[in-house]
Amino acid sequence: MDREPGHLGREVQTVSSALRIKILSMGEAFTGKSCLIKRYCESRFVPEYISTIGIDYGVKTLNLEDGTEVKVNFWDVAGDPVYFEVRNEFYKDTHGAILLFDTTSRKSFEALEKWVEELMTFYTSEVAIFLVANKIDIAPRVISTKEGKNYAEKMDFAYYETSALTGEGVQEMFGDLFAKVLRNIGEQQG
Ligand code: GDP
Repeated sequence: MDREPGHLGREVQTVSSALRIKILSMGEAFTGKSCLIKRYCESRFVPEYISTIGIDYGVKTLNLEDGTEVKVNFWDVAGDPVYFEVRNEFYKDTHGAILLFDTTSRKSFEALEKWVEELMTFYTSEVAIFLVANKIDIAPRVISTKEGKNYAEKMDFAYYETSALTGEGVQEMFGDLFAKVLRNIGEQQG
């Protein structure tokens, strides 16, 4: 049955029988959010700027081992919180969020607090949150693995380290994220 994406309640929406999941990227500018998504989506990267609140990176289709097709929509949160009313609409039906910082920038790490505040406006236990330390190919690091992990543990977020440049950790992070999202959806369906 064809159905437009709508509210994800007890049931999962399907469009042309494919499951759709919505992933947001959040974090300071220049932490590598678009590069990371681009690295993952390869040639399917088609950014589209949507007004003042975010960027739609397009859809990536995943084919699971059991033959299920999953369409992943990536959105980047941008713009000014002044558009809060619109943002509520933007955040609706989010299944997962990657919260990025740059391992060479303490400023980007400290900015996480502001992004977590934003995250909490739409957070429910059904949203998978992954804290991602990006640019691990650059030495010396300013934020160590220990410091990143400690923060993730404190906030109860999963923690991953990546390099959008070399690709290190990228497949693993997205693979685990989708697995977690699909588990959450399965649990909601009962
Ligand atoms: P965004 O503003 O968070 O979307 O950041 P971008 O994806 O535009 O990346 C910002 C800058 O960081 C660009 O110059 C990228 O080439 C660079 N960059 C992104 N990820 C990495 C990475 O993992 N390693 C290195 N060395 N540079 C990166």
